[in-house]
Amino acid sequence: NHKKQEVIEEIKRRHQYINPVVSLSYKDPIFMERSAFQYMYDKEGNTFLDAYNNIPHVGHSHPQVVKAGQKQMAKLNTNTRYLYDVLPNYAEKLLSKFPESLDKVFFVNSGSAASDLAIRMAHAHTKHKKIMVMEHGYHGNTQISIDISDYKFNNPKGDGQKAHILKTQLPNTYGGKFKDDNAGLYYAEEAIQQINNSEEPIGAFISEPVVGCGGQVPLAKGYLKKIYPEIRKQGGVCISDEVQTGFGRLGDCFWGFEQQDVVPDIVIVGKPIANGHPMGAVITTSEIASSFGKGVEFFSSFGGNPVSCAVGMAVLEVIEEERLQENAKEVGDYYKSLLIELQDRYESIGDVRGTGLFLGVEIVKEGNQETNRELAHHIKNALRNRFILISTDGPDDSVLKTKPPLCFTKENAKEVVNAIDEILRDYYQKILRVSGV
Ligand code: PMP
Repeated sequence: NHKKQEVIEEIKRRHQYINPVVSLSYKDPIFMERSAFQYMYDKEGNTFLDAYNNIPHVGHSHPQVVKAGQKQMAKLNTNTRYLYDVLPNYAEKLLSKFPESLDKVFFVNSGSAASDLAIRMAHAHTKHKKIMVMEHGYHGNTQISIDISDYKFNNPKGDGQKAHILKTQLPNTYGGKFKDDNAGLYYAEEAIQQINNSEEPIGAFISEPVVGCGGQVPLAKGYLKKIYPEIRKQGGVCISDEVQTGFGRLGDCFWGFEQQDVVPDIVIVGKPIANGHPMGAVITTSEIASSFGKGVEFFSSFGGNPVSCAVGMAVLEVIEEERLQENAKEVGDYYKSLLIELQDRYESIGDVRGTGLFLGVEIVKEGNQETNRELAHHIKNALRNRFILISTDGPDDSVLKTKPPLCFTKENAKEVVNAIDEILRDYYQKILRVSGV
């Protein structure tokens, strides 16, 4: 109780200075103290299994990453207007992970700054203002990023859709209007109609390959392959937001766009790029970079600073040395298979989707596919009480979202799924008792 009181006092203290619009996770917020790999530790000394956080990509406080940052911080940190070798070294290493046509990189400090810059680049290159965006997409917190994020502008408290935005429906094979193997093509045909009906040419199309805030929805197979050429016919550029999906998380590929067999013109990255150190980047073609380069100077005080580059480099090295993409594939496949077994036993699990360590579990009302936010929240909070961190998302916040650090193990996966099993068993037993059956 003394410990509970400490948490309550800390919430009060936080709200004295920080408006609650900066929200806290869980009914009972956690007073965190330390972290290591896939574990986090609160003030009371409880150990939490982190099945949620995709930012500490190679593991919380990974020693190799921490050391790289510490060493560089002690040696030199400055802006990009001086020469220092860690910038081109890291740029070369990062670009080696992309298809050849994507050979220029601009560094910033967040995913939001990256999407903002990507849209400015698209505009500089095409001169067209019209932007096609994905239903439920999220790209960041700057004004430009919010304007292209249905998840924000379409919120009841949001500003609504601006005139230069064209929104297209999410090609979702669960709960969407097309479900079969050709769904991607049917969705694409409808989007192409919208493109062709647009009075102004489309300057840019932006989408995540797996729509996180839409509830971890992978774009239906073949979708981007149909859309990208149509955008380019209009003189537009295709942007892939890999902030959540990049760096091997999806297991079978390093970037999400590879799953759709396309090469974007612009890619934005963030979150996992530096394992929690604030960093983002825009990767693009020489041609687009050159159009942008004809405009006013681009300067970011912190984007591409030596410490960020050293940290980013260490992250790429750890991904390779510890074969974390392979681990995401192996553990992710196993994790998904366990969740599918659970789905066979509980009608309230409507769908299990995603690949690698980027999975979504849609919680529904039994007997139909109606979303069940209440039960999803119950599971999330009950897991928290069992020291497992997971989140919910989706248009109705009814999808369990799991995207752990890539060092997650099969034992960890089993622990999460066993806990969900027990929570659902208790939940139904209680219902049966209450209804007197
Ligand atoms: N794009 C996507 C897909 C994201 O999930 C996020 C963050 N949730 C962003 C962009 C913005 O990144 P940041 O919070 O680093 O500004």
